[in-house]
Amino acid sequence: MQTKFIFVTGGVMSGLGKGVTTSSIAKLLQLADQKVSCIKIDPYLNYDAGTMNPVAHGEIFVTEDGGECDMDIGNYERFLNQNIPKSHNITTAQVYSSVIDAERKGEYLGACVQIIPHVTDEIKNRIRKIAEDEKLDFLIVECGGTVGDIESLPFLEALRQLRVEEGPQGVIFVHVTLAPSLDVVGEQKTKPTQHSVQELRRIGIQPDFLAVRCTLPLEEKTKKKIAMFTNVTPNNVLSCHDANSIFEVPQMLYDQGIMDSIFTKFGKVGMVNASANWDKWNEIAQNMVNHEDQKVKIAMIGKYVTLADSYVSVNHALKHAGAKIGKSIDIDWIDSESISDYNILSKYDGILVPGGFGTRGSEGIINTANFAREKDIPYLGICFGFQLAAIAFGRNVMNLEDANSTEIKADTKNPIVDLLPEQKDISDMGGSLRLGANEVKIKENTNAYKIYNTNSIHKRHRHRYEINKKYIPEFEKNGLIFSANSDGGKRMEILEITSHKFYLGVQFHPEFNSRPGYPEEAFTAFVKAASEK
Ligand code: GLN
Repeated sequence: MQTKFIFVTGGVMSGLGKGVTTSSIAKLLQLADQKVSCIKIDPYLNYDAGTMNPVAHGEIFVTEDGGECDMDIGNYERFLNQNIPKSHNITTAQVYSSVIDAERKGEYLGACVQIIPHVTDEIKNRIRKIAEDEKLDFLIVECGGTVGDIESLPFLEALRQLRVEEGPQGVIFVHVTLAPSLDVVGEQKTKPTQHSVQELRRIGIQPDFLAVRCTLPLEEKTKKKIAMFTNVTPNNVLSCHDANSIFEVPQMLYDQGIMDSIFTKFGKVGMVNASANWDKWNEIAQNMVNHEDQKVKIAMIGKYVTLADSYVSVNHALKHAGAKIGKSIDIDWIDSESISDYNILSKYDGILVPGGFGTRGSEGIINTANFAREKDIPYLGICFGFQLAAIAFGRNVMNLEDANSTEIKADTKNPIVDLLPEQKDISDMGGSLRLGANEVKIKENTNAYKIYNTNSIHKRHRHRYEINKKYIPEFEKNGLIFSANSDGGKRMEILEITSHKFYLGVQFHPEFNSRPGYPEEAFTAFVKAASEK
């Protein structure tokens, strides 16, 4: 069976929700019992997202197979409740590296190597390989950037060629645009959409669908006007108006007949039979927005707090956990450098410290972890938040005043957290952390065991430093125990203070495994403890 392709492009400006449109279309197809997956194309020159500052670009999403990916991959995983491999995040750097490697090996047999056909062929090969290897019914490919950018041109050209090669029944183009209104009751403006589609047509792509972002539902007359100017049938001009939650978008698109149109276009009429799956999904989606009166207040302390997207999976994981126990979550992001009086943290039901790197802001986090311990406020520390909680305990309970991580102070006398031994000779920063899913073994009769109800879990990692085993006996003597480890006991994975209401640190990133309706266990336990504070 041939895979059908849906390509999602973006117009007018960034931030219109291409990722949500892509995920929603994929979800609808999955609900119709189709085997689907998504690809994100990022036309930048970083090999992957791993070296990028999260404040500028948003969270780095880690896949099971250790990819450091664009955060849209996280959106796909959460919508589809399905793991996405790292090969599904294609960048300009990956494509050009492969082409240049092949040229150096002499594989082009004397040809002059060019963007067309060599770069575009490499892009098409990568997309087709995923479709074939995974035997997909549908593959939805989201092209990052905005049409008109120089960077994305080779990718759009490759997608254009794919449509020619696959034939009109093999490919659909969806273009995401904006219909702004100058005030709430004002007219919905169509010109930005018209211009954006003109730009797309200039490079040979006629969209089949337009997903038009707007505040209020797109009016019938606006749809007709857009349709007339863009050559898209009015039925396929879809209103993507503001919703309470991104999980309502699949239903919104479904109600406008997108599934009939997609199946008709692909010659698969009569395939919309999704009622049983819909019930479960709708229950999950509804449950995510239903608990506004019951709030749990969480303080999230880190240094990348100026952009909510820096910790997007953590935010989602908290909400999934809240939905599970019937609460909504209020998150305040607090800059660890800005806290002068830690008593402001007393008003929160729980304190969460997510992952992080480097010296800046670390003292504020160490003090936060200590404050949570002393005041018995539920605490969840993830990766950096796990390491710094151990340092706080070292300094304040074990009386090792200069306890630190060698990441923060290279010559500290008490390196409670130190470089992973295999990292000592690494000089390249890209792709060289301990990455991806590994088995974590949990000891019985611990809180961790109660939380996970098993002694073996698989969790995703992204770190270069770890707990120095030399200090473990001293920790355990003082009441902080390491309740899980990995690699045959070599690395510490979970810490807990049993006498505390809830004090848990995890070296791995539980947020990447949390899905709507299926929250990650440590988050559920943390939110539950916070709600009982
Ligand atoms: N900076 C720490 C390390 O490299 C923690 C990393 C993280 O929080 N993702 O080990």
